[in-house]
Amino acid sequence: MEQFLKEYLQHIQMEGDYSSEYIPCEICGDHACTIVREVISIGKGAFGKLPVVACNSCGFLYQNPRFNKQFYEDYYARHYRNVIFGKSDPSPEFVEDQIKRGELLYESIRSYLPECGVMLDVGSSVGGMMQAFMRNGWEVLGTDPDIGFVNYGKEKLGLPVIAVGAEEMELDDQKYDLIIIMGSLEHVYDPNITLDICRRAAKPGSLLLLEGRGHPQSAAKTYFNQNHHRYFTLNSIELMMMKHGWQPFMTTDDSICGPTRPGGIYSLGRLGDVPSHDDFLATIRSGKRETPKEILSKFDELDRQWEAK
Ligand SMILES: [Zn+2]
Repeated sequence: MEQFLKEYLQHIQMEGDYSSEYIPCEICGDHACTIVREVISIGKGAFGKLPVVACNSCGFLYQNPRFNKQFYEDYYARHYRNVIFGKSDPSPEFVEDQIKRGELLYESIRSYLPECGVMLDVGSSVGGMMQAFMRNGWEVLGTDPDIGFVNYGKEKLGLPVIAVGAEEMELDDQKYDLIIIMGSLEHVYDPNITLDICRRAAKPGSLLLLEGRGHPQSAAKTYFNQNHHRYFTLNSIELMMMKHGWQPFMTTDDSICGPTRPGGIYSLGRLGDVPSHDDFLATIRSGKRETPKEILSKFDELDRQWEAK
């Protein structure tokens, strides 16, 4: 492992038997990429070197190199909530906000939904977003790797949440009418495995909603942080869906879950056929892409704005 990666692990107090590798674009598979920023936030006003790159072919933004799966499992199971919240039980404010976000989401997308159906929330945390759907007759299931949060959801809120990593989910085939992944696809180890599992579990013609942290609310070195291993834009969130067979029909940066997560972007798609790899690449080449140059100037401009403040 390169020295800067060892230093990074030291910095975040995650020293252990971890490895790292340079990975191809998780959307189109191209290895060629352009470094957008090398320094990212590691919390509490500290920064470390862990490069974020843009894919030269499709513009997808992701951390590269990447630590191995054991690092992710240890990090999210034991460390992440502590970094964010300082303890492993959620605060009442957090739970309340999640429930409220679910209510607003239900109202925002109900016109696209069947009267009632079966819902899966991947990376559900305590599961609060599902409450509004349950109240309206939906059968729901939430999954999250954080055992503390899952237990809280089950025991304190009576919600059907299970502790499992997204890539390890074992789900019935063609069961779900709605799958939501609210910000979690930026955290999982492998978004492609996650979406493969979701596609098998989704009913034909059913809906997928993805949320990403698309619009930075800070300078780049704070926007890019250790908790996010990829960053979606309005374009790449659609590409990720399309790759796995969902056709996006509503992609927006309107705050469809309320104002408490500013900068969020959303894409709602309907499941159809999975495109062949060649067809998918042809779609990218036909212009469904961003260039590294565009991405770089976006973050340069963002940093200029924040310096001026
Ligand atoms: Zn790409």
